[in-house]
Amino acid sequence: MLDRRIIMRKYFGFIIVFLVWSISSCTTLPNGKFEKRSTVFPKNIILFIGDGMGVSHITAGKIIKGVLNLESFRYSGLLTTHSQNAFITDSAAAATAMATGYKTDNGAISVSSEKEPLKTVAEYAEENGKSTGLVVSCSVTDATPSAFVTHVERRTQKDLIAEQIASSDIDVLFGGGWAYFVPKSVKGSKRADEKDLIAVLKKRMKVIRSVEEFQQLGIIDSVTGFFAVKHPPQAKYRKPQLPELTNKAIEILSRNKDGFFLMVEGSQIDWAAHENKQDFILNEMIDFDNAIGAGLEFAKSNSQTLVLVTADHETGGFAIHDGSVEERRISDSGFTTSEHTAAMVPIFAYGPGSSAFSGIKDNTFVGKTLIQYLHQ
Ligand code: MG
Ligand code: ZN
Repeated sequence: MLDRRIIMRKYFGFIIVFLVWSISSCTTLPNGKFEKRSTVFPKNIILFIGDGMGVSHITAGKIIKGVLNLESFRYSGLLTTHSQNAFITDSAAAATAMATGYKTDNGAISVSSEKEPLKTVAEYAEENGKSTGLVVSCSVTDATPSAFVTHVERRTQKDLIAEQIASSDIDVLFGGGWAYFVPKSVKGSKRADEKDLIAVLKKRMKVIRSVEEFQQLGIIDSVTGFFAVKHPPQAKYRKPQLPELTNKAIEILSRNKDGFFLMVEGSQIDWAAHENKQDFILNEMIDFDNAIGAGLEFAKSNSQTLVLVTADHETGGFAIHDGSVEERRISDSGFTTSEHTAAMVPIFAYGPGSSAFSGIKDNTFVGKTLIQYLHQ
């Protein structure tokens, strides 16, 4: 009897130790499920945003490319995209939702409907000692990238957006938009004042303007690359291409042992759809999917990396009516509008914390979840 009690006590001790260990090593996911800590919280986050990229845009890309990098993702779902004040969102409100976890009015850049600044996932990442980057195929002052590092009432306030980008903590910035960073008196400037924001950027990072300088970049911790005065050209003519920029950004950011947050935007998928031009959409989709491939390749060799791919909204009401899978050709397609639509957008997730991104969610779930991951 006495022996049994001693044995029971012994086991009771083991059980307590096991329970404490289990609770401390597990945590609740945003979807209410439990997952092991080591598999939940990513050290690195790469968020790909295909501006205007709906299911048909992806379908078209797959028909032409054959196999997409997107097909390697384990989890996928759909996001609703309406904004605080509109049935159909714009890129500013949608990017704010994904960057901060909060809805706002169309045109607002990471400020609430009451004009209060909303802290972004990139700002949380910086606070946690991580490096941060933005890689886009438009001007860096456009709505999507600026929502990650600036807080302004209207997306049209480009001068102010450029000022806030220049004084942000961003470590890698690739895109166009040089014109908003040089004083008014400099030829080609789009500024209304004499502020020299290139000088501000140069205080803490290398600033380059050409493909040659990009190719010669050595081992560095931070860089801004302006590859166009305003917007870079279409994918067909764009240099460097989005995958090259993505690879370089990852190479630089991953030098930080505390991890990084990187947002990569396929900016012109939206413009192609606004113009109702299928070939333009296809070229942008292939460039974007190749960039996703660069992100995935890194994540496959670095298991602490979460890769997300989604869109801010669908553009064009794009539909594919006829074609051939074997011949990789679309023979008939159409658009219902030259504007954005209310269609839900897909989201794909790979890596630690990816299982949360399945099913139907609102776009604010992206910001809320990424910020929660960074808080751990
Ligand atoms: Mg955009
Ligand atoms: Zn648009």
